[in-house]
Order: sequence, then structure tokens, then C-alpha cells
Amino acid sequence: MGAERHEDCTFCNWAAGTPFVHEDTLAVALIDRRPINRYHVLVVPRRHVVNFIDLPPELLTHLFRLTQALSRAVRDVCRPDAIQHLTDDDLTGHGFNLVPHFKIHIIPRFQADRVRIDWGREPEPSLADRSQWAAQLRAALGGEGGLAGPDVPSRSR
Ligand SMILES: [Zn+2]
Repeated sequence: MGAERHEDCTFCNWAAGTPFVHEDTLAVALIDRRPINRYHVLVVPRRHVVNFIDLPPELLTHLFRLTQALSRAVRDVCRPDAIQHLTDDDLTGHGFNLVPHFKIHIIPRFQADRVRIDWGREPEPSLADRSQWAAQLRAALGGEGGLAGPDVPSRSR
């Protein structure tokens, strides 16, 4: 996972005057420097973790609980029509992440905003293709979705 903190990472070294919404020992939340929309919040772990899949369970839980609380605050303060939660794992370093330090974007959306996220969807695949993809991922997950543990309810069959 690498060092806890990287000297050359802007998300490990916040500039003075950063408009924080929340700070604790595990994470911070702040208003994005170049927001997609007003009240665009970033939720960022303090330790330098690059990808979602590398987050340890307790930090994962904390980040999502914080994201939920902040989404509630965003709803109360700016009354958006929708909220988008976005994050990226830039697995090959092709620029999906401008800052290679994990973050969750909370982006309030308004009917009249000019934000366009073009998904560029493929034509609808066959059910056979979708079923095959599902089977491949089930196999990759392992038994019980790879989540077997005392706190995970298993599916009744
Ligand atoms: Zn960092």
C-alpha cells in the first residue's frame, strides 16, 4: 500500500486555507478546488491510498459513513435535484485521476445546470453476453461473493 503520506501528493499535503467541511484522524472533506457544481465536496482519506480496492475495511466504512452524512448536509444546504457520487481507480495511469489519491466526489446536480456526463453507452448486449460476464465475475469473487464472514449474511437458497 506504500507510505502513509506522500511528500509530492497534494491530497497528502493540504494547502493553508483549504475550505474543509470536516476533519478527523482518518479523513477530511472539503470543497473541490475546481467544482463541477456549487457545493461539490471531496471526501479524502488522510493516508495515501490510490485505489478503492486497497482501502482497509475500517477506512472504507468510515469514508462511506462520512459521505452519507455529507450528502445529507448537501441536500439540506443547497436543495439539489440529484446527487452524484463518483470515484475512479486509475489502474493503468492513463489520467482518469488527476490526483492519484483516492477520493469520493459528492456532486450536487440541478435540473438547470450545464453539467453533462456523457456515458457513451455501447449498444445493448445480448442476455447471453451479460450472463457470461456475470458468471466470470462470480468466479472471480469466489464463494459467497468473496465476502464470507461472521457479519455477512449469506444468501438463502
Ligand atoms: Zn496522497
